[in-house]
Amino acid sequence: MFNLFKSRKRERLRAEPFPDEWRRTIERNVPIVRRLPPADVQELFGHVQVFLAEKHFEGCGGLELTDEIRVTIATQACLLLLHRDTDYYPKLTSILVYPSTYVVPGEHDIGGGVWEESDVPHLGHTQDNLSALVLAWDSTLHGARGIDDGENLVFHEFAHQLDFESGDVNGTPPLESSRQYASWARVLGAEFEALRRASESGDSSVLDDYGAENPAEFFAVATEAFFERPVELRARHAALYAELRAFYRQDPAAW
Ligand SMILES: [Zn+2]
Repeated sequence: MFNLFKSRKRERLRAEPFPDEWRRTIERNVPIVRRLPPADVQELFGHVQVFLAEKHFEGCGGLELTDEIRVTIATQACLLLLHRDTDYYPKLTSILVYPSTYVVPGEHDIGGGVWEESDVPHLGHTQDNLSALVLAWDSTLHGARGIDDGENLVFHEFAHQLDFESGDVNGTPPLESSRQYASWARVLGAEFEALRRASESGDSSVLDDYGAENPAEFFAVATEAFFERPVELRARHAALYAELRAFYRQDPAAW
């Protein structure tokens, strides 16, 4: 009953007229949207309405939240949801936005097994047991406006949220069939190992080195490349591209 209520409410939200001001913000800040087929843009705008109605945004570190900030983040987050049945990042409640790089108290390995307590600068963060996602607004905007550099903070952090939906943090979002799980594990496993080797030997890749950290980061980094460097990714990592295309049900190389 509740789900029926929720899905009707979402249907109504998706059908609401999309504010012109939001449209202009997207035009200015999220230029990747210009590449989408018109039907996808309509679907995306509908998702943005639901996302903005359901998620709580909070400005941190003195940042005053505006519709520009909310819409710029929501549009990128919702681009990852097209063409699938989606529950709109069900594990996520709040999005916290800092003006710029923020520091998190932490420990880091300074070598020889010695750990030092210090503040670690962050651009963005989310984790499985936290219903929040944190973003630095300047990096968010930079990632949104630069659409061919393979770097997009919002795609990265929201790909982690998709990964969490499967219940494990292992770089595998919920997939359709056991066959798809098998080919995902085979292809992404091999690509992850290849990126580790490339990163150790200093070879460059379409995929950011950070993806060599672990399979969860690999999926997040691969998502950034899939949407922002799709032609190169398809040319150099055809099998990986095909897995991501099947999961995201989108073909950015053809846009
Ligand atoms: Zn990450």
